[in-house]
Amino acid sequence: MSNAVVVGSGPNGLAAAVTLARAGVSVTVLEAEAELGGGTRSGELTLPGLLHDHCSAIHPTGAGSPFLRSLDLAAHGLHWAFPEIDLTHPLEGGDSAVLVRSLDDTAAGLGVDGPSWRRLFGPLTDHYDALSDEILRPIAHLPRHPLLLARFGLAALPPATLLARRWRTERARALFAGLAAHAIAPLSHPASPAVGLVQGVLAHRHGWPVARGGSRAITAALADVLRQHGGVVETGVRVSTLADIGEADTVLLDLSPGNAARILGDRLPPRVARAYRAYRHGPAVFKVDLAVHGGVPWRDEASRRAGTVHVGGTLAEIAHAERDIARGRMPARPFVLVGQQYLADPTRSAGDLHPVYAYAHVPHGYLGDATGVVLDQLERFAPGLRERVAATAVTSPAGFERTNANYVGGDVITGANSPWQLLARPRLARDPYSTGIPGVYLCSAATPPGAGVHGMCGHHAARSALRHLGLG
Ligand SMILES: Cc1cc2nc3c(=O)[nH]c(=O)nc-3n(C[C@H](O)[C@H](O)[C@H](O)COP(=O)(O)OP(=O)(O)OC[C@H]3O[C@@H](n4cnc5c(N)ncnc54)[C@H](O)[C@@H]3O)c2cc1C
Repeated sequence: MSNAVVVGSGPNGLAAAVTLARAGVSVTVLEAEAELGGGTRSGELTLPGLLHDHCSAIHPTGAGSPFLRSLDLAAHGLHWAFPEIDLTHPLEGGDSAVLVRSLDDTAAGLGVDGPSWRRLFGPLTDHYDALSDEILRPIAHLPRHPLLLARFGLAALPPATLLARRWRTERARALFAGLAAHAIAPLSHPASPAVGLVQGVLAHRHGWPVARGGSRAITAALADVLRQHGGVVETGVRVSTLADIGEADTVLLDLSPGNAARILGDRLPPRVARAYRAYRHGPAVFKVDLAVHGGVPWRDEASRRAGTVHVGGTLAEIAHAERDIARGRMPARPFVLVGQQYLADPTRSAGDLHPVYAYAHVPHGYLGDATGVVLDQLERFAPGLRERVAATAVTSPAGFERTNANYVGGDVITGANSPWQLLARPRLARDPYSTGIPGVYLCSAATPPGAGVHGMCGHHAARSALRHLGLG
């Protein structure tokens, strides 16, 4: 029987381990931290009884992941919970854009821009299964749906600021800018709409759910499947050299390319070592978790019912803020993503006290305290919030890196979404998961299709490994 070691237990590490174990490989997962899960962990960050997600919170990519959907994760305790409204984007004056699963209702709310929203998202949403087959894998492949891929590419390749010109109202433009900002990259860059388009399509196809009981339920479900197939997990084991891994036919690294290069040392072919060292990390996030009496007093009523609220104002404001952080400047009004997971999953609250999750996009390695700036941004659209806050817990970029070595400089998406790295991450290669050392693979979000809780990076890397073992 072949044996494999997976280093790191983020969703991609666990997805790789599950894929290998289901194919009959004996798998051990080694995790540096005391707790499994990497970006999918939850805990009581502010006050007892209030459950916060440490990192990932909203799971359109999870609900729409072909790999996760192929596992019966509900039988292992994972249940998606859906808010009444998936997303709002408040604007000054009490107006807001509203994104819901129904394309018709979303388009109706966008008024004159509704038909154009429908024309962009309708066909991609209708054919999401075929589209996901094309985009949730390495870019270098023979497309099975070339026309659909071309349709996506035509929208995804020009800068987001250019694509947004198809809409006349600030509502539609700002709504799309907020989606595109999930890439944490300048909206003026080529290919900057790609991530936002996928987020929008997923909203219309699968919704933006949270995991009941916290994102840690995703980790628990994947670990349960793994154990069912004989896999073993060990926590508190930090791998620093190949010697720490011991004997294994196959090694999968759920790591950043830089850390993989350090662990693999001289064994790495020089061209791969160069590419891993040249791999760029992007801007960071600064997170503020709040315990709020009665929830956030949003001025617009829809935001009080939304699982996610994008706080950043107009398209122009968001474009400026994202450009600034990419240049290493902290904006006065950064883009802030607010999660109100408790609305879909009331078990996270304690009576009238609710856990609210907010993070701002900040420059790479930002050393300042962005708590006040985040609260100021929220107060613009929810005056009186500060009086309702009972407790606060902050996580700085350094704090993220301390508890997860993959988040270099607070880059929580494990690699800048630059035009080049969107196309070829972590390097240009026929098999981007291969490290060039036979049997050793990279399987983190630094590989295609990139960040998010979907397990597709781990799944594809494991399939590469299985082919090498003659099992795939
Ligand atoms: C604040 C924040 C908000 C986010 N929001 C969302 C969201 O709402 N929805 C979404 O889909 N995604 C979100 N993400 C992104 C998502 O969490 C990541 O893209 C995803 O977790 C990447 O998975 P991964 O398996 O590649 O790596 P990670 O989840 O980063 O896991 C890597 C694991 O490897 C371990 N490790 C590192 N080095 C070593 C070593 N040397 N030895 C042993 N173990 C090691 C780490 O401790 C960690 O457990 C968010 C992330 C953050 C931080």
